[in-house]
This record gives sequence, structure tokens and C-alpha cells, in this order.
Amino acid sequence: MEYVAAIDVGGTTMKGGLVARDGTILRRERRPTPRAEGPDRVIAAISAFVSDLCRAGPVAVGLAVPGLVTDTHAVYSAAFGWRDVPVSAFADVDLPVALGHDVRAAGEAELAYGAGGRDVLFVPIGTGIAGAVVLSGSLYGGAAGWAGQIGHIPVRPDGLPCGCGQRGCLAAYASAGAVAARCGETSAEPVVRRVMEGDEAAVAVWAEAVEALALALATYTLLLDPALIVIGGGLSLAGDALLDPLRARLRERLAFRPAPAVRASRLGTNAGLLGAGLLGWRAQEVTGSPHRPGAAPRGCP
Ligand SMILES: [Zn+2]
Repeated sequence: MEYVAAIDVGGTTMKGGLVARDGTILRRERRPTPRAEGPDRVIAAISAFVSDLCRAGPVAVGLAVPGLVTDTHAVYSAAFGWRDVPVSAFADVDLPVALGHDVRAAGEAELAYGAGGRDVLFVPIGTGIAGAVVLSGSLYGGAAGWAGQIGHIPVRPDGLPCGCGQRGCLAAYASAGAVAARCGETSAEPVVRRVMEGDEAAVAVWAEAVEALALALATYTLLLDPALIVIGGGLSLAGDALLDPLRARLRERLAFRPAPAVRASRLGTNAGLLGAGLLGWRAQEVTGSPHRPGAAPRGCP
């Protein structure tokens, strides 16, 4: 069976593995992202991870990274502080390698293996909030690759400061990171538990997060008329505690048109890894020669 090596590089964790063409994850491994040690250490850690996965003999490599990304370069990432890093710096192997944007790759995995549909917004909610915009069946990146920054849509004029430099962003109210920090917790899971128990402070923060999300999703819905909104990332694991009030508030905000369906991701937190896998398969189709039985193993140092 053929498979690709795939790595989804997140702010705190790199999720790597071997992925078959049908989306079966044959091997899975998590490693910490050494973000605090600087951009070069992160690049070296990715490169070492690629080399290790390549020992298993994949036919190609797919890498999903955050920030502004082209097919050949990680142009910019505020999270990692890198600029114009060529794909060869991440993967020094003699195999087809594809680089892509983490959230758009995850959105593509949702289309291929999860939600499906032609007009879809995929919103992973984790440390931050991002969006993959699917219009008429195609992922839309915008003029320069900045499309989908739904986490930085202002939902409160002059509201809380956001890490991006703006104020009142959706992410400052509704990201898992913000929800946890506003409740004095280190993760969003204890907040969900406190909400279930009726803890007043947690319920207030949660309600504000739901309201902020409903406002941003109503804006998106009015502008682009999606058939489906898929919520992913860590916060989607809250399930109905998040989705039921969110659906209700979105319906109430849309007076003259029906609300789109809102669902939790079926891929859970694997969407990014599967998306990186799809990048790898595309690289193999575009640049890879057919993997010949009996041929010398390629590319693995
Ligand atoms: Zn922001």
C-alpha cells in the first residue's frame, strides 16, 4: 500500500503521520513545536520530523503550516517569526514535497473526507480562530492569501485587545485560548465543565463567546450565503454545549433568511493531518514518478 508522510504544524504541537490515499491514518505521532526556541529551531524540528517519517518509505510529503503560505515558501508567520522560508528548508528529501496553509488544508480534508458541499465555511476554533472559505466547490484564498481571517473580524467596537494588534476581534472572545484565559483556566475543557455546573463567571464568558461567534457567522452568512458551517478544532469537542446555543443565536440574528446548517467537524482534530496528507498526494500526482515495485527506496536519508 502506498502512503504519504504528512505533518500539520501547530503553535504548540506538530501532528505527523503516514496517510493512505483514502484518508486512513496508518501511523500518528505528536511532537512539541519548539516555538519558544526561535524560528530556526522550529524549522529544524520540522525537517527532523520529515526525515524520521520518511524512513517508512512514503511516496511524497505534505506539510501544512500557519501564516501566509505559497506553494514554494512559508512567506510569513507571526506565530513562528519566520519570513520567506523555502520548502526545501522544511524537507531536505528527494521526494515530491508540497507545502500548504494549515487551515485551508484542513478545510480541504473536510471536503474530501468529512462534510462535503460546495459552499462551506470551515472554522477551527483552538488557540485562535481561523476559517477556510469554500465557494462553489473551491477553496478561496483571496488576492494575497489572507482570506478566511474570520478570527480577526471585529465583533465589539473598541473591545478587548487581540494578539493581532486590533481590538474587539472574534478570537479575543471566542477562541479556546481566550475562553480559558478569561476564566482563569489553562484550557477550555475546565470552562465547559464549569458551564455545565452552572458556575456564574464561566456561564457569562461562555455566553459572550457564543454571542461573538453568532455575530461573526451572521456577517459571513449574509455576505457569502454558505449552505453549511463546520466548526472544528479543540472547542468543537464541547459539542452541543457550544452548537445548540450557537445555532439558536445565529437563527435569531438572521431575520429575513434561514440560517445555514451548523455542524461539528466529523474529522475532529485530525483534519489538519489529513489535509497535509492531501497536499502530499497532490505533490505525488503532479511531480512524482510512479512508485515502481523493486525500485530503490527514494529520498530517505
Ligand atoms: Zn485579532
